[in-house]
Amino acid sequence: MAYRFIPHHTAEELYRIQLEGLSFTVAQALRSPQYRQKLADCGVTPGDIRSLEDLRHLPTTDVEDLRAGYPLPLCCVPEREIVRIHASSGTTGKRKILAYTAKDIETFSLQMARCYELAGLTPDDRMQVAVGYGLWTAGAGFQLGSEKMGMLTIPVGPGNLDMHLQLLRDLGATCLGATASMALLMAEEVERAGILDGLKLKKVICGSETRSEKMRLAIERKLGLEASYDIAGMTEMYGPGTAMDCDAHNGLHYWADLFLIEVLDPETLQPVPTGEVGEMVVTSLRKEAVPLLRYRTHDLSRLLPGECACGLAMPRHDRILGRSDDMLIFRGVNIYPGQLMDVIAVFPELGGEYQVELRRDERALDHMTLTLERSSEASADGDAALAESVARRLHKAVMARIDVRICDPGSLPRTFSKSKRVVDLRQ
Ligand code: ZN
Repeated sequence: MAYRFIPHHTAEELYRIQLEGLSFTVAQALRSPQYRQKLADCGVTPGDIRSLEDLRHLPTTDVEDLRAGYPLPLCCVPEREIVRIHASSGTTGKRKILAYTAKDIETFSLQMARCYELAGLTPDDRMQVAVGYGLWTAGAGFQLGSEKMGMLTIPVGPGNLDMHLQLLRDLGATCLGATASMALLMAEEVERAGILDGLKLKKVICGSETRSEKMRLAIERKLGLEASYDIAGMTEMYGPGTAMDCDAHNGLHYWADLFLIEVLDPETLQPVPTGEVGEMVVTSLRKEAVPLLRYRTHDLSRLLPGECACGLAMPRHDRILGRSDDMLIFRGVNIYPGQLMDVIAVFPELGGEYQVELRRDERALDHMTLTLERSSEASADGDAALAESVARRLHKAVMARIDVRICDPGSLPRTFSKSKRVVDLRQ
């Protein structure tokens, strides 16, 4: 399949592009006093980059580096070359502001146009955007890519259900860009109003939050879709569109000519073996205003080895499995809540709630108990067998022996905070 925006590189070509990009990024970073200090601290000069392996010798950067340089952190171009800023939520303290040159905006739109292309969209499609505009990158990215692709673009933004439905009918958008919860809300409204016949929607691209399989099926069925896709992104790496689900729906392809991904153990910052879960650490290859050097995303995922059934040569990572800050260390094994959730999701006899308890016994041996709620349809008679098969599956998934306890539906505390799901009684 020939693409307009998605490049086709042989492995050798890609390596050369990545190495050139890495050398460019280190040279570019040295133009910022903030980066210059960091690189001097570990004694790196641009001439030191001779292979991609040399990436390991570079310092990591973190959200603290962005906060420290407020209002234009890690800026590597004269301020008059900046044409735009975006910012992320910044729930505590200062916002993270990211600057863009004109070329950065161009690469941002390319990154998004590639995602649309992977979803099979063409200039004949029409894109209705339901994600946030303003300082956020989401709306800007969905719009930039859509216009680059040549699609008629309808920039509505989030909320405003009535306007969305009216414009969907009147302008006949074939694709909707939304968060999963917004897409579900619209799907339910379309169903309730019985207006599906008047719509031309074929596809939905869901960004910025992980959606469950149940949510995906509900959105596709209620809107009568051909397909829906997950898109990944982060403000630090332009915005949305860093990676995209394809028709094989087995991981997200990421643009390996625009950035490198390392998957590291969040404790030791050493690489984990390919295919294992760790923290994704990103190095940009083309960013001008704010290049990223081994930027810690704190997002957990894994690289998926092998070729994708869709035939695209771009590498893939799994969906985001949680935050590295939520990692548990149990008997020397790193365990992430996302891995537990994956196992729980396999069993229809379970509800979704869970609680983890960690204890240390008198022999200084750690024990982990996972308490799970039975679903309201399942009978308590099967608890013992259910607990055993969950424990077996967990052992396979995380390589640790976890005691499983099944309890009545509704008996665990309800909370949105992951930290409250883990009770650590060690020491
Ligand atoms: Zn694919």
